[in-house]
Amino acid sequence: MMQFAYDALPGRVVFGVGSRQTVGAEMERLKCSRALILATPGHEAQAKTLGQSLGKSAAGLFCGAVMHTPVSVTRRAVEVVRSVNADCTIALGGGSAIGLGKAIALRTDLPQIVLPTTYAGSEMTPILGETAEGQKTTQRSQKVLPEVVLYDPELTITLPPNLSVASGFNAVAHAVEATYAKDRNPMISLLAKEAISAFVRSLPILVNHPADLLARSEALYGAWLAGTCLGAVGMSLHHKLCHVLGGTFNLPHAEMHTVILPHAIAYNELAEPAIMRSIAESIGTDTASLGLYQLSGRLGAKRSLRELGMPEIGIEKAVLQAAQNPYWNPRQLELVPIRELIRRAWAGDPPAP
Ligand code: NAD
Repeated sequence: MMQFAYDALPGRVVFGVGSRQTVGAEMERLKCSRALILATPGHEAQAKTLGQSLGKSAAGLFCGAVMHTPVSVTRRAVEVVRSVNADCTIALGGGSAIGLGKAIALRTDLPQIVLPTTYAGSEMTPILGETAEGQKTTQRSQKVLPEVVLYDPELTITLPPNLSVASGFNAVAHAVEATYAKDRNPMISLLAKEAISAFVRSLPILVNHPADLLARSEALYGAWLAGTCLGAVGMSLHHKLCHVLGGTFNLPHAEMHTVILPHAIAYNELAEPAIMRSIAESIGTDTASLGLYQLSGRLGAKRSLRELGMPEIGIEKAVLQAAQNPYWNPRQLELVPIRELIRRAWAGDPPAP
């Protein structure tokens, strides 16, 4: 029998080629007239172009966003918000720029317009992860959920093939864990299946044709769906492992998700056989874990934590941290198989249940 509770989240989404050009109109809808544009240093040129197109409505530019949203950077950005008297923020970029916009919203309640340029999905979630003194903490608050998201596939064309694949796997990870979430519901499971299929269709095209707008559009559509899944239900072992590994060894976010995902799925494969069959169906394979491992290999992704810079000696530390603060997962967390999971992921071995 079906039984579930589902809190749908508010938010406006405008999707399509050229949607970035509606940013001025979206500011008007929000009754805002002084935007602070946020970006990473790598996106400064595009942020400037956006500022020029907005004219007087662009109150300032802050291009100091970095991964994992350090509180020290947020403090500097909030000072800029106050000094230019901004009444909204526009985040242009991936999870790093978007995370900064969320951290500012938490402290100032400023409305957010977001123009995502990766597939990480943060724009659709009320989740904020911040770092201070080497510790990453995550919180959920509707205060950080962006008011408007403009998905423009043209903004993703410059995302290099290797980052497109890794970012796509990051999104697939949200969708996969949503299907076996403790608080899953049928609507989110439908979105998750569609998100996985969208990436399975688009990523092989993007690897060879990064400027293919149809494939870019399909991948961004998948990112929207997967981000919605992440915002709606709780995540399990995969996200916990990535949180631990990313925080402890400062590994690149999307690439780390790509390595871990097949192994985390394998760990849960026997606990949720029907759901895993349905994930495998979306991937177009017999076994979800092996199918994703083979897909990431075909797409040229790095498949080992070793290649991402994690030292072998770190495996034990990661195991102990992953087992701390127990959390819900379809299969109980057991030290020996978790150690084997991390060892395989470190070495780049195929996943095993
Ligand atoms: P990112 O925003 O750090 O971007 C990665 C790199 O790619 C950066 O150097 C950036 O400048 C560059 N880049 C981004 N878009 C580009 C484009 N279109 N063309 C060329 N270069 C481009 O990385 P990310 O993977 O998008 O986000 C990771 C961060 O987001 C992490 O801090 C993670 O914790 C956070 N995150 C948060 C949530 C949430 O719901 N709170 C969800 C997913 C990720």
